[in-house]
Amino acid sequence: MADVAVVGSGPNGLAAAVVMARAGLDVQLYEAADTIGGGSRTSELMEPGYLHDVCSAVHPMALVSPFFRDFELARRVELIVPEVQHGVPLDVGGAAVAYQSLVRTVMELGVDGPTYRRLIEPLLARVDGVVDFTSNKLLRIPKDPIAALKFGLATLDQGTPVWNRRFKETAAPALLTGVMSHALGSQPSLSSTGAGLMLSILAHAGGWAVPVGGSQSIAKAMADDLVAHGGTIHTGQRIDSLDQVRPAKAILLDVAPPTLLRLGGAEIPDRYRRSLEAFRFGNAACKVDYILSEPVPWLAPELRKAGTVHVGGSRRSMAESENQVDLGMHPDEPYVLVSQPSLVDSSRAPAGKQILWTYCHVPAGSTVDMAEAVTNRIERYAPGFRDVVVRSKTTTAAEMAEYNENYVGGDFSAGIMDMPGLLRRPVVSMVPWRTPLRGVYLCSSSTPPGPGVTGMPGYHAAEHALKDIFGKRVPGLGVGS
Ligand SMILES: Cc1cc2nc3c(=O)[nH]c(=O)nc-3n(C[C@H](O)[C@H](O)[C@H](O)COP(=O)(O)OP(=O)(O)OC[C@H]3O[C@@H](n4cnc5c(N)ncnc54)[C@H](O)[C@@H]3O)c2cc1C
Repeated sequence: MADVAVVGSGPNGLAAAVVMARAGLDVQLYEAADTIGGGSRTSELMEPGYLHDVCSAVHPMALVSPFFRDFELARRVELIVPEVQHGVPLDVGGAAVAYQSLVRTVMELGVDGPTYRRLIEPLLARVDGVVDFTSNKLLRIPKDPIAALKFGLATLDQGTPVWNRRFKETAAPALLTGVMSHALGSQPSLSSTGAGLMLSILAHAGGWAVPVGGSQSIAKAMADDLVAHGGTIHTGQRIDSLDQVRPAKAILLDVAPPTLLRLGGAEIPDRYRRSLEAFRFGNAACKVDYILSEPVPWLAPELRKAGTVHVGGSRRSMAESENQVDLGMHPDEPYVLVSQPSLVDSSRAPAGKQILWTYCHVPAGSTVDMAEAVTNRIERYAPGFRDVVVRSKTTTAAEMAEYNENYVGGDFSAGIMDMPGLLRRPVVSMVPWRTPLRGVYLCSSSTPPGPGVTGMPGYHAAEHALKDIFGKRVPGLGVGS
């Protein structure tokens, strides 16, 4: 009889499995798809030799997430930090860019550089406290209350309609809003600002790393560790009832609340059932992957060295496009996230060729192919882009939901990212990872701290399962432990 069953092999299922196996428990992991990794898979989507990240591509948390730090991810996976972390092409010409060096970033931001510095520097000085605050549930006493307070004040400063009052030009606000728009939702808002500030700080801390070989390398490193510590991985095994994985003493579910409802069936108490039924999902992404004959011909040369580019023009136009999605529309001129991994990782494409990873936000469940709008948007700031496109492939929001049942309606955050959605994930509780069913824990990004390849929802769930069921503490996770 296995001690532990884990359902789902996304980064959080894998993190939970690693912690449990490292504690000396027999772990069986079940994944519905034929390959492991969930949102951390890399695949030859179009042609052999071109490796595209199917979901996640850029990893700001890889070097700072408490789980990945303990796991010593940087010793297991080669993580490349590009020269330019992220940037945004400007309508007035040129670009605003963030380097790992805050000083260099501030110098190049011009007149608003000092304002950007005043916003970011105090948080960067307490980056461990900020990471601790944002890597757990919101309602708790943070380890570094001053960091949490400063983070809260900065979020208020940039998350309300007076967000422009300290800026004189468009570059610095566009740079910030490019990052804040990662979190789906209206702009300005406290939730997207909090997420955006966190990512902005990390650009100047560890950097926005790109794993050699693609995001699958991160999943593989966790899977290798799991197997090395006695765990077993079963792919192609969809779990439809808890009975399928019983009598495991602890069951950790890397699934979304609707799947938990299905798995638990009549066992789930009414009150918890009602909370799960009321769990809300947000809008979605339409992804467009490209094979290119050469790099994107950005007008702004700095963007030719950027790992990530946020295409959307000014703060105002990015906010307008995000607010249209919030109102259920498909923007003609969407805000587009672009990652250029093959600029820094030659393993992704044959010599001289490139891949490009992009997506834009769309309403939940959308079946609209946004490829033309995305291509137009990039062409605007990189004339000639169309001519270097060899092939493209669209994954609509509806297809994304089919690909991974955790992304309900194509919501890759597995739960809405507004303030109530962050507080109630999936319930307001001291231990939101624990369900009322003895030994059953939710460990997906539908629990705190939410989406992203951090391993933290899985780590927290495993920590509580270890304590509750086995009376154990989290063991060492490092390479030599
Ligand atoms: C287009 C896109 C771009 C993204 N970009 C980034 C990025 O650049 N950086 C970043 O950090 N994050 C990014 N993310 C978000 C990130 O991928 C997710 O937040 C993360 O993967 C969530 O991890 P998870 O383990 O909670 O769930 P998932 O990664 O979603 O994994 C869940 C797994 O569980 C399996 N499963 C579900 N139900 C069952 C069942 N009943 N039986 C068996 N198996 C089951 C699924 O098949 C899946 O493999 C992106 C996501 C998308 C979609």
